[in-house]
Amino acid sequence: MPEGHVTHRNVRLQTAALGLGQAISATSPQGRFRDGAALLDGRSLESLDAHGKHLFYRWEGDLRLHVHLGLIGKFQIHLGPAPTPTPATRLVLESNSASVFLAGPMVCDVITPDEEQAIRRDLGPDPISMPRRGHQFVERLARKRVPIGAALLDQSVIAGVGNVYRAELLFLAGMHPAMPANDVTADEAMTLWKLAVTELRRGVELGDILTVKPHDIGVRSRVGLTREEGVYAYQREDLPCHRCGAPIRLNSDGARKIWHCPSCQPG
Ligand SMILES: [Zn+2]
Repeated sequence: MPEGHVTHRNVRLQTAALGLGQAISATSPQGRFRDGAALLDGRSLESLDAHGKHLFYRWEGDLRLHVHLGLIGKFQIHLGPAPTPTPATRLVLESNSASVFLAGPMVCDVITPDEEQAIRRDLGPDPISMPRRGHQFVERLARKRVPIGAALLDQSVIAGVGNVYRAELLFLAGMHPAMPANDVTADEAMTLWKLAVTELRRGVELGDILTVKPHDIGVRSRVGLTREEGVYAYQREDLPCHRCGAPIRLNSDGARKIWHCPSCQPG
């Protein structure tokens, strides 16, 4: 599932590509968003913003477009002339300079400003756009009676963390995923928050999740690392830990898999 770094990177790339303050054409080749696209078509795009995994486009006339990519949603940005969209393309936004194609989103709806506020109210702080809201994360985490591994996926605790980042943040913090969230001290929680700010912000810059510290794997930079080299825990079961060499373990936490190093993250 695309995590918060993907939505924020799309805000940056789509704002630059489409340009703000000019009329945008909106169509739905797939047809499922025909009515929504007709509402937006020809209006000027005023701004784009992300909160965790949610994207909000603000249009002339106080309309909002709400997009959540879900598990399989994808954007494509085309600068200059665009290819013909596939029939599965839910939405095409087109300006004079670029086109944005959206396929497979979990949510693609036209909503009101009040509805946007209601969605945001239910979300926890976003480490990418609200780095100073760590105190909110600490407070919300302390109220959760679930393992820390589950709490980090709860979007009302911290917005934008998914399965890759939660495994990596827990590794970096040296915390076992099964530790009860309400046993995490305020200092430990703030450490997790600061790690989230650093790691997710780097994800926006790189367009990928590369959490490994280069010296841990004997290289000088993260450039060119594969996913397996570039993370400590996620999907590395049975492979040696980049730090200590112990085999990484796979556990499941309800429906989602989680990986950890038994030596760097003792129970
Ligand atoms: Zn280890």
